[in-house]
Order: sequence, then C-alpha cells, then structure tokens
Amino acid sequence: MKILVSGIPSNLRFSSAHVIPGHESCGFIHGHSYFVDVEIEGERAGEFEFVVDFKDVKGYAKAICDELDHRLLIPVYNNLIDFKDFDKDKDSIFNLKDKKSVYFKIDGKGYSLPSVDCVFLPLPYTSAEELSKFFAETLAKKLSETYDNLQSVSVCVNEGIGQGATYRKEL
Ligand SMILES: [Zn+2]
Repeated sequence: MKILVSGIPSNLRFSSAHVIPGHESCGFIHGHSYFVDVEIEGERAGEFEFVVDFKDVKGYAKAICDELDHRLLIPVYNNLIDFKDFDKDKDSIFNLKDKKSVYFKIDGKGYSLPSVDCVFLPLPYTSAEELSKFFAETLAKKLSETYDNLQSVSVCVNEGIGQGATYRKEL
C-alpha cells in the first residue's frame, strides 16, 4: 500500500537560495519557494496496521526542510566551485560549517559569506533532481531506524508550483 503526504497542505516547505554553477540563467544566486511531496510504499504492519505513521513522515521531512530554510544551498562537490582553505578530496564537510566565513569562486566570480548563512550539502548540484535524491535518501535512512515494512520512499522536490523532480529510494 502507498501513502502520500502533500507538501503544501502539510507545510513541508522551505525557501532557499541556490545557484547552478555554469548554467546560463541559473548560474546567478536566486531563490525558490520549495515544497516537498512524499510517497511511501510498504506493507501494513503493527498494532494499527499503518504503512507508516504520518506524524513520523511529516516530522522527519519537516526537519530536513527546516535545515535548508532561509539559507543559501551550496553543493560542495560541484566541480566549478573552488573553496579557499578547503580541500574537497580530503577535508570533511563539517570543516566548512565550523568556519566563521567561507570563501569560494564559481567561474571566476568570488563569494565571501558567513557560514551560518549557508548549508553545505554533499552534492554536485542543488537542482530539484539532486535535492529530491537527498531528501529521499535521508528520509529513508531515518524511517529505516524504526520501520522494517517499507519498500520505497519517493520524494518530489518542487521548485514552486508545476516544476519538480522525483527520486525513488528502494529499501
Ligand atoms: Zn533555481
């Protein structure tokens, strides 16, 4: 059986800035009002014969939304972003979080930002495609801690109404 949590009525939303390095129009810092739809497939189980408790799905998905909300999303593993004093191949992403400020260049353009204004993601892009994969994998991992009856977790990350990408994580 499949359950669905719709992002707009369930308040699974976040407003963030991002940039797609190298892209003609999206290569400039800009923002979206995102919302996230979640679909979970699994067997009904437990005392109440739920697939999954809606409260858990909403709570875990909202926590990810809150982490990204009102920040600039930075895809640390993008090939066009060069960080100062940070080696992508060796250093932990937590090093960036711990710095007071971060300095990086994209295509020769220099940026200096307080790190508290940013979220550093272990991704090559912060496209809807990559964000949906990030959400689905993070949510699946969290739900797997308490559920063993689930078959898949699909997440659609919408960059506003009418434009989204879905990633399905099999369990
Ligand atoms: Zn965009």
